[in-house]
Amino acid sequence: MEPQKVGPGQIDKIAEDLKKDPEKSIGNYLFKGFRIQISKYKASGAERVQQLYKRRRAQGLCIVCGTKVTRKNPVTGILYRLCDTHRAEIDQKNKEKAKAKKGK
Ligand SMILES: [Zn+2]
Repeated sequence: MEPQKVGPGQIDKIAEDLKKDPEKSIGNYLFKGFRIQISKYKASGAERVQQLYKRRRAQGLCIVCGTKVTRKNPVTGILYRLCDTHRAEIDQKNKEKAKAKKGK
Protein backbone atom coordinates (compact mmCIF):
# COMPACT_ATOMS: atom_id res chain seq x y z
CA MET A 1 0.00 0.00 0.00
CA GLU A 2 1.32 3.45 -0.94
CA PRO A 3 1.82 5.72 2.07
CA GLN A 4 -0.48 8.72 2.39
CA LYS A 5 1.37 12.07 2.32
CA VAL A 6 0.62 14.04 5.47
CA GLY A 7 1.46 17.47 6.88
CA PRO A 8 2.11 18.58 10.46
CA GLY A 9 -1.60 19.07 11.19
CA GLN A 10 -2.38 15.53 10.15
CA ILE A 11 0.48 14.22 12.31
CA ASP A 12 -1.25 15.81 15.31
CA LYS A 13 -4.53 14.25 14.27
CA ILE A 14 -2.92 10.82 13.90
CA ALA A 15 -1.30 11.17 17.34
CA GLU A 16 -4.67 12.14 18.82
CA ASP A 17 -6.36 9.14 17.22
CA LEU A 18 -3.56 6.91 18.43
CA LYS A 19 -4.23 8.00 21.99
CA LYS A 20 -8.02 7.93 21.85
CA ASP A 21 -8.90 5.28 19.30
CA PRO A 22 -5.75 3.48 18.05
CA GLU A 23 -7.60 1.52 15.37
CA LYS A 24 -8.52 4.79 13.66
CA SER A 25 -4.88 5.81 13.41
CA ILE A 26 -3.79 2.64 11.63
CA GLY A 27 -2.18 3.44 8.30
CA ASN A 28 0.87 4.20 6.25
CA TYR A 29 1.96 7.81 6.23
CA LEU A 30 4.68 9.84 4.58
CA PHE A 31 5.87 12.95 6.40
CA LYS A 32 8.75 15.00 4.93
CA GLY A 33 10.19 11.88 3.36
CA PHE A 34 9.79 9.80 6.51
CA ARG A 35 7.50 6.87 6.53
CA ILE A 36 5.28 6.33 9.54
CA GLN A 37 3.55 3.04 9.80
CA ILE A 38 0.97 2.37 12.46
CA SER A 39 -0.30 -1.14 12.68
CA LYS A 40 -1.33 -3.50 15.37
CA TYR A 41 1.57 -5.52 16.71
CA LYS A 42 1.20 -9.24 16.05
CA ALA A 43 -2.20 -8.85 14.42
CA SER A 44 -3.24 -11.99 12.58
CA GLY A 45 -3.88 -11.91 8.86
CA ALA A 46 -7.61 -12.23 9.44
CA GLU A 47 -7.51 -9.38 11.91
CA ARG A 48 -5.70 -7.17 9.42
CA VAL A 49 -8.22 -7.93 6.69
CA GLN A 50 -11.03 -7.19 9.10
CA GLN A 51 -9.46 -3.85 9.97
CA LEU A 52 -9.01 -2.99 6.31
CA TYR A 53 -12.67 -3.76 5.65
CA LYS A 54 -13.72 -1.76 8.67
CA ARG A 55 -11.64 1.20 7.58
CA ARG A 56 -12.97 1.11 4.03
CA ARG A 57 -16.52 0.74 5.29
CA ALA A 58 -16.08 3.76 7.57
CA GLN A 59 -14.78 5.82 4.64
CA GLY A 60 -17.61 4.76 2.34
CA LEU A 61 -15.33 2.70 0.10
CA CYS A 62 -15.96 -0.66 -1.56
CA ILE A 63 -14.63 -3.25 0.89
CA VAL A 64 -13.19 -5.32 -1.96
CA CYS A 65 -11.39 -2.77 -4.15
CA GLY A 66 -11.51 0.50 -2.19
CA THR A 67 -13.45 2.46 -4.84
CA LYS A 68 -15.69 5.23 -3.55
CA VAL A 69 -19.23 3.94 -3.15
CA THR A 70 -21.91 6.42 -4.23
CA ARG A 71 -25.05 4.30 -4.24
CA LYS A 72 -27.16 3.85 -1.15
CA ASN A 73 -29.38 0.98 -0.18
CA PRO A 74 -32.86 2.44 -0.81
CA VAL A 75 -34.29 0.47 2.11
CA THR A 76 -31.82 1.52 4.81
CA GLY A 77 -30.46 4.77 3.31
CA ILE A 78 -26.95 3.52 4.10
CA LEU A 79 -24.16 3.35 1.53
CA TYR A 80 -23.57 -0.08 0.04
CA ARG A 81 -20.47 -1.93 1.20
CA LEU A 82 -19.52 -2.64 -2.40
CA CYS A 83 -19.06 -0.65 -5.59
CA ASP A 84 -21.44 -1.32 -8.49
CA THR A 85 -19.02 -3.78 -10.07
CA HIS A 86 -18.54 -5.92 -7.01
CA ARG A 87 -22.17 -5.71 -5.99
CA ALA A 88 -23.18 -7.02 -9.42
CA GLU A 89 -20.54 -9.74 -9.15
CA ILE A 90 -21.80 -10.92 -5.78
CA ASP A 91 -25.43 -10.74 -6.87
CA GLN A 92 -24.49 -12.95 -9.80
CA LYS A 93 -22.74 -15.43 -7.51
CA ASN A 94 -25.73 -15.56 -5.20
CA LYS A 95 -28.01 -16.23 -8.15
CA GLU A 96 -25.77 -19.06 -9.27
CA LYS A 97 -25.77 -20.49 -5.76
CA ALA A 98 -29.55 -20.32 -5.62
CA LYS A 99 -29.74 -22.04 -8.99
CA ALA A 100 -27.33 -24.78 -7.86
CA LYS A 101 -29.47 -25.36 -4.79
CA LYS A 102 -32.62 -25.69 -6.88
CA GLY A 103 -30.90 -28.16 -9.17
CA LYS A 104 -30.23 -30.60 -6.35
ZN1 LIG B 1 -15.35 -2.92 -5.69
